[in-house]
Amino acid sequence: MNWETLGFGYIKTPFRFVADYKNGKWNEGAITTEDKIILSECAGVLQYAQTVFEGLKAYMTKNGKTVVFRPDLNAERLEQSAKRLEIPPIPKDMFLNAVNEVVAANKAFVPPYGSGAALYLRPFIFGSSPVIGVKPAEEYQFRLFCTPVGPYFKGGMKPITIKVSDFDRAAPHGTGHIKAGLNYAMSLHAIVTAHNEGFDENLYLDAQTRTFVEETGGANFIFVTKDGKIVTPKSDSILPSITRRSLCYVAEHYLNMKEKNRRVALKEIKDFAECGLCGTAAVISPVGKINDHGKEFIFPSGTEKPGEITKRLYDTLTGIQNGEIQAPEGWLKEIK
Ligand SMILES: *Cc1c(COP(=O)(O)O)cnc(C)c1O
Repeated sequence: MNWETLGFGYIKTPFRFVADYKNGKWNEGAITTEDKIILSECAGVLQYAQTVFEGLKAYMTKNGKTVVFRPDLNAERLEQSAKRLEIPPIPKDMFLNAVNEVVAANKAFVPPYGSGAALYLRPFIFGSSPVIGVKPAEEYQFRLFCTPVGPYFKGGMKPITIKVSDFDRAAPHGTGHIKAGLNYAMSLHAIVTAHNEGFDENLYLDAQTRTFVEETGGANFIFVTKDGKIVTPKSDSILPSITRRSLCYVAEHYLNMKEKNRRVALKEIKDFAECGLCGTAAVISPVGKINDHGKEFIFPSGTEKPGEITKRLYDTLTGIQNGEIQAPEGWLKEIK
């Protein structure tokens, strides 16, 4: 495997974990080599999109340990997502056990330390029994597979350009705060539109007033003020990114910076010094430019390299993940 040139795509690995929910309870599940699913044509997931998912990474640390980053938070978030879509949540222990078993079974696909690559884990739950009248399915499947992914930044961290979208991502009191495929299905037209116009990503505004910054299709914003404070947008319709929460902790406890989660008005962005997008895939993608209907704002950190604080946040969190910097208690779960 050439880890450095690997992209972000699906590569089938030998083992996955599968558990089924039937007659009101989850079975204990097991590792299997079967990657195909045979479903009723009328399965709840196919007709009414009843499915939720997670995303997390396993990788090798400096001292040769295989670890997963904060999987307990993915387990908790999957439970919250499941409840919102009337999907029976899986026990936290089963989730953590599935993570452990899948990574252990596919250990040959955990990229080596320093390659920048990782083993991406995709847990998900979906309604598997037939549903035609609108209601929750009676049977479900939980599956966790993994696929190796390459380094996110291949030619260095190059700031991206985003546009303020005319589409909305999430309604107030809707499903923006859960990790559900349905939020992505409706973002596809918006992202294809943005790409066709030459932008890398969409900045979604709050759907009610269209004046506050929410997030992009799959990453949370992090801003740095001119006096070196971290600001992250607060809203009930933003997906609570584990990377963003971890970066804010790193800012406070490792970099001695103040951090605030509050509403951020679109008209405020001109006052910030740096901007980044946080998520498991990239950790932080620096943002160079935001285009609001032709009005372009370039962050003082510019369009050639990441801002100084963005870079420090990135280096510190990836250092923690790689075992180069002491991790806070419980952040790295070792796979045995
Ligand atoms: C998964 C996701 C994120 C990033 O969350 P992480 O836990 O940091 O990977 C941000 N926004 C949306 C909409 C997401 O689905």
